[in-house]
Amino acid sequence: MTRGAFLESGALGTPAVVIHGGAGEFLSATSPADLAQLEEDLFTALGAAWEVLDPGGPALDAVVEAVASLEASGHFNAGRGAVATCDGTVETDSAVMDGASGTIGAICAATWPESPIRAARAVLALGGPAEGPILLAGAGADRFCEKAGLARRDPALLSGEGVVPISRSGTVGAVAIDSDGHLAAATSTGGRLGKLPGRVGDSPIAGAGTWANDRSVAVSGTGEGESFLVAGFAHLVEWGVTAGAPLEAALRDALGSVRARGGHGGAIVLAGDGRFAVAYDTSAMARGWRDASCSTVRPLRPGHDRPAGAQS
Ligand code: ASP
Repeated sequence: MTRGAFLESGALGTPAVVIHGGAGEFLSATSPADLAQLEEDLFTALGAAWEVLDPGGPALDAVVEAVASLEASGHFNAGRGAVATCDGTVETDSAVMDGASGTIGAICAATWPESPIRAARAVLALGGPAEGPILLAGAGADRFCEKAGLARRDPALLSGEGVVPISRSGTVGAVAIDSDGHLAAATSTGGRLGKLPGRVGDSPIAGAGTWANDRSVAVSGTGEGESFLVAGFAHLVEWGVTAGAPLEAALRDALGSVRARGGHGGAIVLAGDGRFAVAYDTSAMARGWRDASCSTVRPLRPGHDRPAGAQS
């Protein structure tokens, strides 16, 4: 298996959104037509977030719309495309965090929601650590989704048949900053292919796979979740930045801690001043970003950059 080490960073205007479609080894195994489809999916997700951000909407809604768009495509390991457990069932994990209030909403090992990130958003609406639950699991999460009237995942997809993710490691995530300078992060996944029923990774856990804090950074991770979880990955990134490290160094060091625990993957990070960084140590990570002057997805094919406004 190829183990690259890639880091890319830059500065975006405000508002802005950065997304990922999972770190993995998929590039060499994916046809040009499927790569083109992944690119379209990423551009569509950037557009969904931009529709919220451009008129001055909140980062929190923007990350939900970006992730919901990728979930709905069926081409990533999230939402409609979520991979199966070893029993052939599908259990999804997701989280969305508001950097302004520090509130997170998350679900894990859930079978009900068609859009796990919208379910996480509904949990977040319960109020946060002081007022209500922030993480609902399994049957309880499903009951909550049903009572909240959230759309149910098509039972025909419950065995994992019918939709084949192009990328088997294509967890999806988004980080955004809005016109008021607020940060948010969201992550959604089907977890690891063939996982034990009930297994939960880093994605729905605050400070592991998902984190947002207006005073520091927004983070969404992807990769071998056990190692990200044990490392406390997203908190490591935040602590590095808070201690004065450049974004790139904080991210690289945090991924190093994941590697020291046997795991590989990547992440997107956005700071309150619009600086962003993307890093991964797998062979590829689908990703993109958008602000008022650029709309970009990488690394899927040459010539992937499009001027802002070239899409809806
Ligand atoms: N981190 C996710 C998990 O372990 C999987 C992934 O990002 O590929 O559940």
